[in-house]
Amino acid sequence: MTTHGLLRACGLEMTPYTPHAMSDLFEFDSPPPLYAVMGNPIEHSKSPRIHELFATANNVRIDYRAIQVDPGGFAQAVHSFQAMGGRGLNVTVPFKFEARALADRRSPRVELAESANTLKMESDGIFADNTDGIGLVNDLQRNLGCSIVGRRVLLVGAGGAASGVVGPLLEQQPVRLIIANRSADRAVALAARFAAFGPVRGLGFDTLDDDDFDIIVNATSASLGGEIPALRPGVLTGTVLVYDMMYGGTATPFLQWASQHGAVRVADGLGMLVEQAAVSFEIWHGVYPATADVIATLRADLSAV
Ligand code: NDP
Repeated sequence: MTTHGLLRACGLEMTPYTPHAMSDLFEFDSPPPLYAVMGNPIEHSKSPRIHELFATANNVRIDYRAIQVDPGGFAQAVHSFQAMGGRGLNVTVPFKFEARALADRRSPRVELAESANTLKMESDGIFADNTDGIGLVNDLQRNLGCSIVGRRVLLVGAGGAASGVVGPLLEQQPVRLIIANRSADRAVALAARFAAFGPVRGLGFDTLDDDDFDIIVNATSASLGGEIPALRPGVLTGTVLVYDMMYGGTATPFLQWASQHGAVRVADGLGMLVEQAAVSFEIWHGVYPATADVIATLRADLSAV
């Protein structure tokens, strides 16, 4: 199916974009401004639910869709969406790198992460931001009360998600940030990119010391396949929080493993998901929405499945 066909399948018809006039503010019958998340796959995305909850709570009118885009069709899909008057996009796997590339302006967070998950269509072009890292930091610090300053942090994984969070984690001034990855060379390369921003080092699982961390963040996709990164249980000793960016109706395999081996506190990535969406919402609508009730609602949704 073509991109236009996909957009039509989502109920989005192509019409020329016309700038909004002041009188639009008073046309309550006009269609609500269009937002969407694009990715592949996209059917399980929670973003429409989260943004609708934020919008309702903040009296903001939006029409937020989930659009599956074929590999190779991302740029055309974004430009079609823009031509239809689309105001903002969330971007997820596998298009975060392309989202960075096609933007006209980028936040420093995008330049550091080399990927973008939020696009804002502005009169002078497309602005890109990356809210994943600040979403993780806000979940750790605000929701879980787990300060990062002065802490020893282990980030497991060196893919797209890890790359998005290294900068914002270093901004919080941990005493050290170790990136450990199954493929050690990717961890070393990721750490080297951020060497100027704080005490960060990359290595493989086999050279990881035990008993050395306060906070462990799993940024691998291992849990998606029911697998666990091959870490020694000794790394859990002394941790105050073990966190998995993945989330679900039950504890992820990584969090089950951590609990079984003595981790005192574990948390999944549902709060990060809602917090990264909250920063996107603020970029688009100028208001940072309250997140606690939305996290609770999403948690109830997941438990009911
Ligand atoms: P990528 O495909 O870019 O990276 C995958 C990473 O996982 C690599 O470091 C890879 O190691 C590692 N990995 C995969 N399988 C295993 C395994 N069996 N054992 C050890 N390491 C493994 O994925 P992303 O970085 O985009 O996503 C990672 C996770 O983060 C996903 O689960 C995603 O859902 C989650 N996420 C959650 C968000 C949230 O808001 N909660 C936001 C963004 C992502 P190697 O380099 O050796 O292949």
